[in-house]
Amino acid sequence: MLFSRCLIPTVKETPQDAVNASHTFLTRGGFIRRVGAGTYDFLPLGFRVLKKVEGIVRAEMNRAGALEILMPALLPAEYFKETGRWDTFGDNLFRLKDRKGSEMHLGPTHEEIVTDIARREIRSYREMPLNLYQIQTKFRDEPRPRGGLLRCREFIMKDAYSFDVSEEAAKASYERMRVAYCNVYDRMGLTYRMVAADSGAMGGSTSAEFQVLAESGEDAIVACDTCDYAANVEVAVVRPPAASTDDATVMEPERVSTPGKKTIEEVSTFLKVKPEAMLKSLVYVGGETTALVVIRGDHEVNEIAVARALGVADVFLATDVDVKKATGTDIGFVGPIGFKGRVLVDRAASQVKNGIAGGNERDVHVKNVNRGRDYDGDVGDFRLAGTGDGCAKCGKGTLTSYKGIEAGHIFILGTHYTAKMGATFLAEDQQKQPIIMGCYGIGVSRLVAATVEQHHDQDGMRWPMSIAPYQVHICTIGKDDAVNQAAKALYDDLEARGIEVLWDDRDERPGVKFKDADLLGIPLRVTIGGKGLAAGNFELKPRSEPDPKKAEMVPVADAARILEERVKSALAGKK
Ligand SMILES: [Zn+2]
Repeated sequence: MLFSRCLIPTVKETPQDAVNASHTFLTRGGFIRRVGAGTYDFLPLGFRVLKKVEGIVRAEMNRAGALEILMPALLPAEYFKETGRWDTFGDNLFRLKDRKGSEMHLGPTHEEIVTDIARREIRSYREMPLNLYQIQTKFRDEPRPRGGLLRCREFIMKDAYSFDVSEEAAKASYERMRVAYCNVYDRMGLTYRMVAADSGAMGGSTSAEFQVLAESGEDAIVACDTCDYAANVEVAVVRPPAASTDDATVMEPERVSTPGKKTIEEVSTFLKVKPEAMLKSLVYVGGETTALVVIRGDHEVNEIAVARALGVADVFLATDVDVKKATGTDIGFVGPIGFKGRVLVDRAASQVKNGIAGGNERDVHVKNVNRGRDYDGDVGDFRLAGTGDGCAKCGKGTLTSYKGIEAGHIFILGTHYTAKMGATFLAEDQQKQPIIMGCYGIGVSRLVAATVEQHHDQDGMRWPMSIAPYQVHICTIGKDDAVNQAAKALYDDLEARGIEVLWDDRDERPGVKFKDADLLGIPLRVTIGGKGLAAGNFELKPRSEPDPKKAEMVPVADAARILEERVKSALAGKK
């Protein structure tokens, strides 16, 4: 493709609402354009990347034995009404009425529609396992579309649904999908973790998320450095800390004046102690219960664990007024001594010797607070896992925290939809049974953005070879015939070898061309012109090579063959 013939509208300006690299570079590189809140055009280069991601997803789904179908995006309300999701989806559902006044909506996901296929078409156990998938546009009325392609209201998704005769068979289908998903991310050159999405996932897992690691990610996860354990911090299980070896003498409590010092940071600086020697006490309200949660000063509360311990769905930090009512003092001076009500003590906090806690009196803290003597409570895991915590799964490794972008989810649904919708089959014993179902999603358009989040530098994108819009980017310098002839010969040779080439044939200064090449991020750049060509060479520079002096000279006669080798070995996963 000639640059001058392709629509590549690069711009210098960063979009106003851009807060992450993919939104910035995909827009600046002319890959995408915003149409409305959470909706985008894919321009030629963006479309090429999208289709390559789709191609990898499709190939791996087919290889795993799944069958591609296409369901409509425009749906009558009756199916979601059957399962109750017409109501529970709330404002996230794009609803509309047709000309006859019938209620309809745009599909945010297709469990009901595919279950309807299953109940119509599957009769016997012989017809399973069956896995149906589609790559299709989905619609969700996100309250806050943001991050460019990361969180849209219209997006491309691959959704697969498995149908099996038993839990055991469903687990085998789930496992095939797990392998297919790993293949997809591996082929795209992504660093990712498969993350336990529920706390019961330590053993036989029935639900997992795939998180692409990136600083801009919205999800906080921890992963073990020794085994494959990874989990969302909210459900992560940590190894209980070894019993304290601190043999410091337990000292008598001492009330000290801490005027105006409320936060852990203020108090620890004022009293010259480390945050981990402090006991952070927070009042939570869950349902009818008011509870005090005690964690170490350097930790954060895991609200999901607190809610679970209190037997409620959600907990909220108590308001100033509620704190005063529960403790008689203000936020910042609350402590566990004498607290009337449920006290939840995190395991690590319970081991703190001679800790410092709030004195339940304005401007007062207490030194030498020890659990057992000065306060009590239920000991458990009530903090978020973080870097440095021990891994509970292997018992040896250490956890590190990462930020991640959720790029896939696999799930065994059981009979949740099939029972409600009457999707049954005749088992071997001629008994009617509900079909066991699984669902598996990959955000295809989101993966385009997630790749850029992981593969970029300050100058632009750095596409992995497998999904790059083109594989080789030729920059010609100057306009003389020798340059053009050399470029044309290389271009034709590469195309004949099946290599995808973009030739920047524009009448622009070298600086402009190089800047655009860095922004577009095509993996291999070949510069033709100047002294190099006079000496019989082209200059070859991989986009992943940051040092401009590291360009290598390749003889004109060998260039096409060398480039072909580089492209093929990159596609084969070699360096
Ligand atoms: Zn481990």
